[in-house]
Amino acid sequence: MSVLIKNGRIVTAADDYIGDVFIEGETISALGKNLSLQADTTIDATGFLVLPGGVDPHVHLDMPFMGTFSSDTHETGTRAALFGGTTTVIDFVLQKQGHSLKEALTEWQGRATGTAVGDYSFHMAVTDFNESTRAEIREMVEREGITSFKTFMAYKGALMIDDRQMTALMQEVRKQGGMVTVHATNGDMIDYLIDQHRSEGKLSPLYHYLSQPEVTEAEASGRFADIADYTGCPGYIVHLTCEGALNAVRNATRRNQKVFVETCIQYLLLDAGLYQRDFEGAKWVMSPPLRQKKDQETLWAGINQGLVNVVATDHCPFFWKQKLMGERDFSKIPNGHPAIENRMELLYSEGVNKGRISLNKFVEVACTNPAKIFGMFPRKGTLAPGSDADIVLFDPKKQHMLSVATHHMNVDYSAYEGWELTGKVCRVFLRGQLAIDKDECLVEKGYGQFIRRAKVNGRI
Ligand SMILES: [Zn+2]
Repeated sequence: MSVLIKNGRIVTAADDYIGDVFIEGETISALGKNLSLQADTTIDATGFLVLPGGVDPHVHLDMPFMGTFSSDTHETGTRAALFGGTTTVIDFVLQKQGHSLKEALTEWQGRATGTAVGDYSFHMAVTDFNESTRAEIREMVEREGITSFKTFMAYKGALMIDDRQMTALMQEVRKQGGMVTVHATNGDMIDYLIDQHRSEGKLSPLYHYLSQPEVTEAEASGRFADIADYTGCPGYIVHLTCEGALNAVRNATRRNQKVFVETCIQYLLLDAGLYQRDFEGAKWVMSPPLRQKKDQETLWAGINQGLVNVVATDHCPFFWKQKLMGERDFSKIPNGHPAIENRMELLYSEGVNKGRISLNKFVEVACTNPAKIFGMFPRKGTLAPGSDADIVLFDPKKQHMLSVATHHMNVDYSAYEGWELTGKVCRVFLRGQLAIDKDECLVEKGYGQFIRRAKVNGRI
C-alpha cells in the first residue's frame, strides 16, 4: 500500500518547501520536489501544511486519583489526540509507595494494551526509591524501553521523594542511560500554605492558586538543577510555568549545564484571573496553577531563546461532577484539565499566526524536541525517509471554534470554550494509515502501538 501526498508545504523543525511525500507501508520512503512515483493513492495537498505528527510527552490517561479516574481512557484520549494532530503521547505509570515499578507497569499495560487508538509510550514515575527499585531501573531501560523516570518534589506521603532518594535515583538513572524528569515544586511549603488557608476558612479555587506561589516552583527547579548537575544525570522539568522557575534554569546555564524544560499550552495562553470566577475556576485547577501575564511573556521568550524545549499539555481531564468533589474545599478538587486535542491548533493559531514563534519552531517544540529528548527520533517527530509515516495535513486558513459541543475528549467542558482559531487539522496519517479524515476517525481501538524508547544522554 503506497500513498503520494503532492504539492504540500512540507515543514519540519529545519525545512520549509513545497514538495511531495511518498509513503510505503508504515513509513516514509521519499520526499522531494515533483516525485515521479506511482502510488496506490495520490492526495493533492496544495494549500496545506504537511507536518510531522505531534508528540505530546505529558498526558494522564485513565489515571487513578482519589477513588476516581481521569476521564479519558487510552482509547478516547489517543483518539482525541489524533483529531488534534498528535499521533504519539507519553503517559505516566505511577509506582505505589511500598510496591514495585513492575507492578505499576503491569497495571498500566492492562489498561492501555489493545485499547489505544494512537501510538503511546510510558514514563515511569518513581515514588519510592530503595534497593529493590534500584535494580528495576535497568530492567525498565533495557527490557521495557522505558528510559525516563518521573519524580515529584511535592505530594508528600503519596508521590514525593526526598532529596536523598532524588540523588540516589539520579545516580542510577544516569548509569543506565535514562533521564529524570520532575514535578518541581516545594511540597512542604505548599502543604503548609494549604493547611493555613483551610484553617482560615479560605476554601475556594482561588486558594489553590495562592497555596502554590511562584517561589515554590522557582526554589524546587533550582534544587533539581543542582542535584542533576552534581550527579551528571540528564534532567527535564515538566510543566514549568513561571519566570522564577525559568530563571533558575537560566542560572544553571551559567555553569554550562543543560536542563530540558517543558511548558504546557495552558501556561502560555491562560492566566490566574480565571480563579476569580468562584467555583467555575475549578475547571483550571491544576498543579502548578495558572500564573500571571508576565509569566506568559517569559515562556514565549523562553521558547525563542531555546530555554523552553517542549510544549505539552499535562492533559488530565475530569468531568464536572468529579471536580465537584472539591466544591467546599479546593484541596479536594481533582487536578487537571483537558487539552490533548487542542494543543497543536492552539499553538499554531496563538503562536505562529500571532507572530510569537516561527513555523519551524512550532514543529520543533510540538513534535521534534519531545521525540528527540525521549529517545523516539527520527522514528517520530520529523518527516524523513525511514521515519514512521505520521503526517498531519493542516489547513492554515481554516477558521473554527473550540467547544465541548465539537471536541472528542471524554469530558463535559472545554477549557477553551468559544476560542476562535485559525488553522485546523484536516487529515492525519498514523504509520501510513489514514487515521483522521476531517470529522471521522478511520482507525480502530487497538491500532495504537506501544513505542519502546532508546537510551538518552541529554543531548539533542
Ligand atoms: Zn502531569
